[in-house]
Amino acid sequence: MRPEKLFSLFTQVTALPGVGRRTAALIENLAGPNIVDLCFHLPSGLIDRRFAPPLDTVPEGAVVTVTVTVDKHQPARNKRMPYRVLCSDDSGELTLVFFHAKEDYLRRMLPEGEKRVISGKAEYYQDKVQITHPDHIAQLSEIDSLQRVEPVYPLTTGLTPKPLGKAITAAVNMAPILPEWQDAAYLAKQGWSSWRDALAAAHAPTSESDLLPSSPARSRLAFDELLANQLALGLVRRNMRGGRGRNIKGDGQLWSKVEAALPYQLTGAQSQSIAEIAADMASSSRMLRLLQGDVGSGKTVVALAAMLIAVEAGAQAAMMAPTEILARQHFDTLKPILDAAGVSCVCLTGRDKGKARDGLVAQVAAGDARIVIGTHAIFQESVEFQDLALAVIDEQHRFGVHQRLSIAAKGQSAVDVLVMTATPIPRTLTLTAYGDMDVSRLTEKPPGRTPIDTRALQLERLPEVVGAVERAIKDGAQVYWVCPLVEESEDSDLAAADARHAALTRTLGDQVGLIHGRMKGPEKDEVMAAFSSGVIKVLVATTVIEVGVDVPSATVMVIEHAERFGLAQLHQLRGRVGRGTARSSCLLLYAPPLTETARARIEILRETDDGFRIAEEDLRLRGAGELLGTRQSGLPVFRLADLSAHGELLAAARDDARLILERDPELEGPRGEPLRVLLYLFERDAAVRYLRSG
Ligand code: ADP
Ligand code: MG
Repeated sequence: MRPEKLFSLFTQVTALPGVGRRTAALIENLAGPNIVDLCFHLPSGLIDRRFAPPLDTVPEGAVVTVTVTVDKHQPARNKRMPYRVLCSDDSGELTLVFFHAKEDYLRRMLPEGEKRVISGKAEYYQDKVQITHPDHIAQLSEIDSLQRVEPVYPLTTGLTPKPLGKAITAAVNMAPILPEWQDAAYLAKQGWSSWRDALAAAHAPTSESDLLPSSPARSRLAFDELLANQLALGLVRRNMRGGRGRNIKGDGQLWSKVEAALPYQLTGAQSQSIAEIAADMASSSRMLRLLQGDVGSGKTVVALAAMLIAVEAGAQAAMMAPTEILARQHFDTLKPILDAAGVSCVCLTGRDKGKARDGLVAQVAAGDARIVIGTHAIFQESVEFQDLALAVIDEQHRFGVHQRLSIAAKGQSAVDVLVMTATPIPRTLTLTAYGDMDVSRLTEKPPGRTPIDTRALQLERLPEVVGAVERAIKDGAQVYWVCPLVEESEDSDLAAADARHAALTRTLGDQVGLIHGRMKGPEKDEVMAAFSSGVIKVLVATTVIEVGVDVPSATVMVIEHAERFGLAQLHQLRGRVGRGTARSSCLLLYAPPLTETARARIEILRETDDGFRIAEEDLRLRGAGELLGTRQSGLPVFRLADLSAHGELLAAARDDARLILERDPELEGPRGEPLRVLLYLFERDAAVRYLRSG
């Protein structure tokens, strides 16, 4: 249960003075529903309002806070003219300018003959000082609260700075003093203050340097968040590793048969990964291993080897893919190989219903099926294994950490877990998402691939691209045509893809197909099958096209509005071609003008095909929080930590978390109680439940 000390922070923002339902809804979108979310909504800039010059010395463009007498209102003569209010001090004059003004409101705020404090950006117009739409109009008594450095917060449409600023100030003032969870010596060494003070300081920047991730206040808050993350992962990991480990050792019989029948030689990286997995499975502690490798790096065969170890040891193995298509594809790839080796294998997805499903489930329960390939349907409650020893999770980049963990937790005994990801995650991110999960990396691509010719073209050259596609098809090529994310909504994506499909069909006829996320499973399969078999030559797709889909004869990838995609995502999409030995190309169509970042992304893509390098560059270019597809990837989104800047803190947090759990595994010591508060503060409630007295 959440400690009482945190109750006020986990109160809805409507509890704050001046926050009604409408504002609350906007705040929720921007930061989150609770007061703590506002506390963690840190300023992105500042405005110095301390400058209070006499009016006759006001410099052009300066933000000033001046005390003036309101002399005269000059209402607008017509709608297009501004409303003016003439003011003055001893030294000179100031005109306040308002467009679309409400007269009664302005007369109330600025009564003629009275003094007011005005703050805003001063400009010269026809040699006179004016402020258009002042940021603040206040009474003299309020001057102190106004004449300061004001934090500037990221906004959202409909939410203006003032109500947000007020709400945040109130939220921060409500933040309680919490027991110190950090090591006192470490705090002293870093020169950090308490959580409460750091929070207050982060919201009261006085110079630009206070806004940097490296500022003491922000570093402290970031470290708290990272420590909560690492501690939670540590607890989950311990929980998963707990229990009796099994020693799963194969005799090599099946694998050697299968390996000999492969039409290729394993790469060094593949052999190495298989050896690491075999050692993990054979050891008495539970395997928790991440296999990272680019699209096309050959993860499937590594998974196959691992599954055969389980089968050789007399147990079962399961492999789960994020979508039906991928599950079927894995099944279609592996089934013939397994048949040849005499290993029975079934495919189980959400689409299997009724009698057919019952039959499959019975085979799994009886152990007739040694290997089960499918979607998350595999791990539904009604599915029981005779003796599951290994779960392979082909994550692509769709599962979140939580799903993954719940799946692993489902194993009756200590099931070994191998997670495969096609997102070459930068090392820093691996640490946050997977804790200290063991990692194998397929850094080497299977040989014989020709590099993909990558080009960037302006969108207006689309007709030429269509011409090139037409010629390529005549030469026997197949083409993916990816339509961009128009907005967050899938509907508008769909409209774009639909329109492109219609347009291409007009030029190229019925060899153009369409696939998107709204289609039903069988429909999708049909389209994919038609593309695989070459009936369809051009496949128009929204970004939901299945990342792991393997059609080696596809050699052209067209990406519309490439500037809207993240680097890693472009790399993933491009990875769909260049899988065979034929020359492949990737055309990135963009709408100018390109931002510098977009230009850099395209440059990097043209330069390299190394997913690991691309991932690092992506992190550098965007900052971790923004990594496109972060949400789908299941990578945690940090609010206070910035992984492109706080890499060292992350490493320190990991070491600290390890040490803490070694010394006080149940968090019962003197630091334990505060650390639990920390976990709750960052909503790692689930992890606390793994503690004996959680
Ligand atoms: P991933 O799942 O990592 O994207 P796959 O396992 O689907 O990649 O492999 C991509 C393609 O490469 C498959 O057609 C596979 O048969 C082939 N492949 C895998 N390993 C090798 C290898 N060592 N040499 C040649 N081809 C390989
Ligand atoms: Mg794959």
